[in-house]
This record gives sequence, structure tokens and C-alpha cells, in this order.
Amino acid sequence: MRVGVIGGGISGLSCAYYLGKAGVDATVFDPAPGGPIGTVTVQDCILETGPESWLAAKPWAEQLIREIGLGDDLTGSNDAQRRTYVLRHGRFVTLPEGLQMVVPTKVMPVVRSDLFGWSTKIRMGLEVFRNPKALPDRSVAAFVEDHFGPEAVEYLAEPLLAGVYGGSPQELSAASVLPKFVEYEQRYGSVVVGTFRDKRKPSGQSIFKSLCRGVGTLIEALKARVHIVPQRVDAIAQTESGWTLQSAGATHDFDQIVLACGANRSAPLLEPVAPELAALVASIPYTGSSIWTFGYRRADIKHPLDAFGFLVPKSERRAVMACTWLGTKWLGRVPADKAVFRCFSTDPDVTREAVQSELHRLMGIDAAEPLFAINHRWPDSMPQYTVGHSFRVSEIEQHAARIPGLHLTGNAYNGIGIPDCVRSSQKVAATIAAVS
Ligand SMILES: Cc1cc2nc3c(=O)[nH]c(=O)nc-3n(C[C@H](O)[C@H](O)[C@H](O)COP(=O)(O)OP(=O)(O)OC[C@H]3O[C@@H](n4cnc5c(N)ncnc54)[C@H](O)[C@@H]3O)c2cc1C
Repeated sequence: MRVGVIGGGISGLSCAYYLGKAGVDATVFDPAPGGPIGTVTVQDCILETGPESWLAAKPWAEQLIREIGLGDDLTGSNDAQRRTYVLRHGRFVTLPEGLQMVVPTKVMPVVRSDLFGWSTKIRMGLEVFRNPKALPDRSVAAFVEDHFGPEAVEYLAEPLLAGVYGGSPQELSAASVLPKFVEYEQRYGSVVVGTFRDKRKPSGQSIFKSLCRGVGTLIEALKARVHIVPQRVDAIAQTESGWTLQSAGATHDFDQIVLACGANRSAPLLEPVAPELAALVASIPYTGSSIWTFGYRRADIKHPLDAFGFLVPKSERRAVMACTWLGTKWLGRVPADKAVFRCFSTDPDVTREAVQSELHRLMGIDAAEPLFAINHRWPDSMPQYTVGHSFRVSEIEQHAARIPGLHLTGNAYNGIGIPDCVRSSQKVAATIAAVS
């Protein structure tokens, strides 16, 4: 059996890897494999072009990494200094300890916090008295406001989720983005009670995992293990026995194909062969982002850099949505004589001037000029799990299942993080291998 995989981001590469492992002949087409994942070294600093880590609680990426022999390169975030600042009224306020995403699990840090006023703190306390409810899917903003009030949306949900989804809590789906908390609401009424009941013993491992030489090493290792044609696919067509792909003027025959190139790039390919499916896939909206990374002499930065970085809520945001203090979050990535700031913006076209001047203002950097500034733009890279997303995905899956030899995987459907992409692709590979 021959399988053509369109798109060689982590989804396409891991799918091809698992297919190969199952003895299926897979070919990946992608002119720029890796998607946003990549690592560059600048002045001895190890920098990421896109993602810098993944959640340790989701095991699928780590399993793949161990399997391909990179287990010794796994590293954890420097949780001894795990702290995040949130900008409130122009100054940094510590995110209270014990928050599980938007849910407080420790009383005193919330009571003492300057991040919320008393009415929010009281609402957080009274939340434990709610009765179980099964509600239709609603926005993250509606869900969080219902449980904890509007300030929790503004200073917790919005900045925390904008960094992951690049989207607005008014549009993102609670069922898709906060599934565990929606389940607690249905079971216990209170998400605080649910979080306490479900509380697992601390595993002792870091909350974020990465690779010591950068996440890009995962892509390089996968590229070395799969067959890649470094070209884009221009068209797909169904034949009596399978599928053909048009790429760089040539026709390639396959028994089955996997679309791993993003919902937005899959839709035009699907349009001539499966217009209804194309329309459903096209209904998943996308936003973009930009990463500006600045390096300075450590001596030029007065701030103690005693945290992983800071988040800027929309109400206080100009150009920077979040900033990671790289040398604090990851030991061994930044030499001691340097300080590196990785600034994330939800505007792919944000300029260096806008980001740098905001960074200088917030960090109190007066005269120093950066040693380096590098930019990676990712327009149309972040699928939005808007209200009703899980319903849309099940419709897409039902339609796709009716078309023989066609499979979809990637960050647009069942999870946006690197581990979710690996898990979805492993499932698709297993489905294909089962019939080969
Ligand atoms: C800036 C940024 C930061 C992120 N940070 C994190 C993080 O810290 N942790 C985390 O877990 N996740 C993070 N993510 C999310 C995660 O990186 C992505 O969801 C994941 O990499 C997507 O992988 P994918 O293979 O599904 O899609 P992509 O990586 O987008 O791959 C799609 C591939 O398809 C190719 N392609 C498109 N059209 C065609 C065509 N016609 N023919 C052939 N190939 C085509 C493209 O070149 C691309 O390589 C981040 C994302 C971004 C953009």
C-alpha cells in the first residue's frame, strides 16, 4: 500500500513515521517541512521559530521522542522559578500560585493577590456552591464569567488562552478549549470542586517539556526517518483504485492520502473532489501570530528576571501579547551574560519598532540596544476552536469517513498542541495500517 501525506508539519511527519513503522510505504509532500517548528542558534542562544515546549501532562510527543532515540535530550522547564506576571494597570502582578488554568486551587494566594478585586475573590469562594448543569456549548468568556465573573475573563482567561490559541475568549468554545472544566460543571456544578476531587499527586516532573537543543531537533529526526518530496501539492483527484496528487507538474499515484496541511490549505484541495467536505473544513477560521526575539547583554537589564515572563491582557495590550524570559524558563539555552526576550504577538505584521518600544517600556530598558532581533511570522497558522467546534469536527469526520482512502489530521481538529497533533496522526496511521 502507498500513502501520500500532504503537509510535513509535526502532524504529517509523525503520521508518516507511524505508517513506516507499521510497514506502510508513505511519502510526505511539503516545500517547508516542520511548519512553525524550528530551532536557530544566535550568539550561543538556542531560539525557537515557533513552539518552544509542550505540556508534560500530554504524553504523546514524549513517547514519540523516546521512540526515535531523543529521550536523553528531553528537558523540563525551570519550575523552581515558575512564576508568571500579568500586566495590570501598567505594572506586573504575579499570577497567584495554585491556579489550574482559570481555576484557583489555593485560597491564600488568591486572597492576597492584587490581580483581582474583592468581588472576584468572593465569587471564586462562592463558586463551590453551584449545582451540576449540562449546558449547550458556549464561549470561554461566557463560561468563565458565569463561574468567576468578568475580571477572571479579562485577567486570566483572555491572556492565558490568547497565547495558546491566538484567539478571543468571546469566540473560543468552552467545550473544546476547557473540556475538563465543562465536564466538572456537568458533574459537580463547581469547577473548583471538580479540580479538587480530581487533584492528582504532583508528578514531580516539570509542567512544560522541551528538547535541550530545541524542538526543531524533533523535526530533523523525523525528516531523517521519512521519505519527503520537498514540493507543494497543487491538486488531488480520486481514481478507480485510489488517488493522484499533482505536484510540480508531475502526477503521483497513491492508494490512500492524508491531508495534514491545515484545514485552510486542505479546503481548496478538497473543493473539486468533495465540495461539501471542503465547505465544512473551510468553516474553521484561522488567525496568525508573530514571534520577535530580542537578545541583550544581561548587564543592560536591571530587572531580576525572576519569572517565566509576563502576559498582557487585551485591555492593556499594544503590540506584545506575551513575553517569555527565555534564560529563566529554560536553563542552558541562554549564556549567563545575555538576556533573551521572546515576544509573542497575535498580529503577524507587527513591526520591530512597535514590539521593541513596548518591551523597553514594560521592562524599564532605557538606553540599551538589542544585540540581536529576529522575527518569525506565522500568518494563518492558528485554527480557532470557536463555539460549536466539536460538532463541526464530528461532521467533518463523518463526511471524510464516507470517502474511501481519504484521511485528515492536524492541529485544526482534535487539539492544537504538539502532543495532540502526534496523537491524532498516530490514530490515522493506525486506521490506515489496519486495512493494509
Ligand atoms: C507561533 C506558534 C507558537 C506555538 N507554540 C506552541 C507551544 O509552545 N506548544 C505547543 O504544543 N504548540 C504550540 N503551537 C502549536 C503547534 O506548533 C501547532 O499546532 C503544530 O505545530 C501544527 O502542526 P501541523 O502539522 O498540524 O500543522 P503545520 O505545522 O501548520 O503543518 C502544515 C504543513 O503543511 C504544509 N503545506 C501547506 N499546504 C501544502 C500543500 N498544498 N502541499 C504540501 N504541503 C503543504 C506547510 O508547509 C506546513 O509545513 C504554536 C504555534 C505557533 C504558530
